Amino acid sequence: MSGRIPQSFIDELLNRVDIVDVIDARVPLKKAGREFQACCPFHSEKTPSFTVSPAKQFYHCFGCGAHGSAVGFLMDYEHLEFPEAIEELAHSVGLEVPREAGGARPRETAQHDYHGLLQRADHFYRARLREHPQAGRATEYLKGRGLSGEIAATFGLGYAPPGWDALLNHLGPDPATLKAAVELGLLVQKDDGRLYDRFRDRVMFPIRDRRGRTIGFGGRVLGDEKPKYMNSPESPVFHKGQELYGLYEARKATQKLERLLVVEGYMDVVALAQFGITDAVATLGTSTTPEHLERLYRTVREVVFCFDGDAAGRRAAWRALENALPVLREGREARFLFLPEGEDPDSLVRNIGADAFREKTVDSIPLSQFFYESLTRQVDTRSVDGRAHLVELARPLLQKLPDSVFRDLMVEELGRYSGVKVSSLQRRLFGASTPEAPPAPRRAVSATGRSPVRMAIRLLLERPQLALQIAQPAGFEDLDMPGVTLLHELLETSRAQPHLNTGALLEHWRGKAEEKALAKLAMQPLEVPAEGLDEEFCGAIQRLVEQRDRQRTEQLLHRSHASSLSEDEKAELKQLLEARVPAAANSRRKQQD
Ligand SMILES: [Zn+2]
Repeated sequence: MSGRIPQSFIDELLNRVDIVDVIDARVPLKKAGREFQACCPFHSEKTPSFTVSPAKQFYHCFGCGAHGSAVGFLMDYEHLEFPEAIEELAHSVGLEVPREAGGARPRETAQHDYHGLLQRADHFYRARLREHPQAGRATEYLKGRGLSGEIAATFGLGYAPPGWDALLNHLGPDPATLKAAVELGLLVQKDDGRLYDRFRDRVMFPIRDRRGRTIGFGGRVLGDEKPKYMNSPESPVFHKGQELYGLYEARKATQKLERLLVVEGYMDVVALAQFGITDAVATLGTSTTPEHLERLYRTVREVVFCFDGDAAGRRAAWRALENALPVLREGREARFLFLPEGEDPDSLVRNIGADAFREKTVDSIPLSQFFYESLTRQVDTRSVDGRAHLVELARPLLQKLPDSVFRDLMVEELGRYSGVKVSSLQRRLFGASTPEAPPAPRRAVSATGRSPVRMAIRLLLERPQLALQIAQPAGFEDLDMPGVTLLHELLETSRAQPHLNTGALLEHWRGKAEEKALAKLAMQPLEVPAEGLDEEFCGAIQRLVEQRDRQRTEQLLHRSHASSLSEDEKAELKQLLEARVPAAANSRRKQQD
């Protein structure tokens, strides 16, 4: 496994590349004032709202809310994973990506070549399907399911022979290899230390990562034994909650995938491919996780979930819906296809043929319909109580949706079912601001009506170098107010690396809770002229220092009634009270210290 990419390299890289070049090479940009514009590649529109800022090295779409640095753009536009996007950018400016030794999880021994070992196992199973004396039963089984040799080869199907030691003997006696095979779940170690093959007398389905490397296996029994399906356990290279069976093959089959069909088992994926439906993928014995959904929507705009029509299938579909809500924004669509009882995609496609199956996916139910059908079934929408209950049921779910036109439409729909005015629903569900809005102050709004924390963060995002204007420590760090910790971290990061542009600075928050709010704030219009940034920023910090001093004074005064102040604290309080009258002068003095 390769190590982590050092943050310092990402900083340097984002300082070197120009986001305008990166995007313009893929989506031609037009100059508009100090920025560049184009019609957004992430949603369909006629007038450009996709804006690229060369100063901030950041893009933002005012239509659909897509945003990010050059890395983020490549990830979304070219469907790359983070390290791949970094590789691509580094390559474009002739840099080599360094890796931190040891990878993300330190180990006492050197890492084994897991991929090489999985490849050996893969070759072993495939060869057994061709030549093992018992393999006839496996090939009969595959033929019985209507699979051709060609499709078996496309998916790399193999056969794990019966017995307990076929793979074990094949791997040889090297202890390091055997230990790695246990870590990968190819072999199982008994309590007495003896090893045996995990997969026996099964058809083997290699599970591949985006690059086509085998990272695990699924095995299916030939008869009716249990368990019918068995997967490799979690391992250093295999994470079930992230991987989708068939995604590599689907991408290989179609240059520009439009949609993906999510089914339950590998046999469904392979059988559909046999019928020419090559855009199906399967989760690996887990329900669809948010990680799966991110991966799906990074590849396509439309995802069709295929579930059994029975009660269990509907429950699983509802779980998928709940996980999909947070990632749904304009241009991303989720639909649900419920199969007739007793059918799975494999049997259905054989019964009705590929064309009829395709039609069914086109006629599948949109998420919004499934959503309101399920909720209205739980209440009596004819009564006032029932309609109020409906709003309560919908509330936590709609609150998961990102602020978007899609969310507005969902709320309108709720208005229709509940008879409550849309504006009133918007207010009840999302308050005045959006759920992902930047930290709002509890009581610390300045005279201008803006929180100084928010203002300071906004200004730092406009020009990270402003951090150098402020003494260290600035004197507000222990202020108890939302957003203060974030502001402090932003200040520290920008101060340590004053050359960072906004895009590079935001990369430090990739994957963290504040990432979205920061990006949103970064693109909000700023009503401060460029020459006024310094003053405005110092002013905001100064207001925070004053607030901190007031907060501390109150604290000390409160405790002084209980007479529990130390001598030092008494002196501090005295000083704070004396400095209180000319408050502004006090904080200015502090900043000069
Ligand atoms: Zn857009």
